Amino acid sequence: MKKEFAVIGLGRFGGSICRELIELGMEVMVIDKNEEKINEFANIVSHAVVGNSVDENVLKSLGIRNFEHVIVAIGLDIQASILTTLILKELGVKKITVKAQNDYHEKVLKKIGADHIVHPERDMGKRIAHHVVSNNVLDYLELSDEHSIVEIKASTRLDGHTMMDLDIRARYGITIVAIKRGQDIIVSPQATEPIKENDVLIVIGADSDINRFEKKVMS
Ligand code: ATP
Repeated sequence: MKKEFAVIGLGRFGGSICRELIELGMEVMVIDKNEEKINEFANIVSHAVVGNSVDENVLKSLGIRNFEHVIVAIGLDIQASILTTLILKELGVKKITVKAQNDYHEKVLKKIGADHIVHPERDMGKRIAHHVVSNNVLDYLELSDEHSIVEIKASTRLDGHTMMDLDIRARYGITIVAIKRGQDIIVSPQATEPIKENDVLIVIGADSDINRFEKKVMS
């Protein structure tokens, strides 16, 4: 069944979400106060509307409360982002995701009941920092302030070793949840599975434990 989404704000972030949702076969309505932006998307979405989202009547007349999920991707105008979120909340929208510009913005969004707050620039910055610090870290996903999932490329040091002989659980307190080997993926690998150089290990654990493991595997 197709889900119905509304994206407010068609900057790079909102535009990219919109295109991906369409790609995934979803119904998307877009709203932007900039007519040029709307024209850019008018051919690919089910409904494209030029309008100011801080105007409650605009959102009401579009039946915004019937959408399953509304994404507020207004960037620089923090006031408009907050006011839009507040109106969506008051109109009874079930799920609201909002892009935050900074920590203060996030605090307010939390207070007024945004369901999901994202910081694309900050999060991407963190991921890239991990990658540039260690060539072996291919990707990084923060689960909480202290826990992450990390993709680590196995160096020659790990080649031929198994999780059992490396004693990964006991020594590092981390879990290898999957191994990517070329096109194959081994989910929940056995402790006796030999690791090969250039395997990509998908590791979950506390940041400090993962860091110790990263140092061990650095080539
Ligand atoms: P990105 O980094 O995603 O490109 P940004 O953080 O630079 O975006 P802006 O360009 O300020 O964010 O805003 C994103 C979009 O939101 C713009 O296309 C802008 O026209 C639209 N927008 C801003 N305020 C409103 C509003 N009140 N109602 C509708 N659209 C709005």
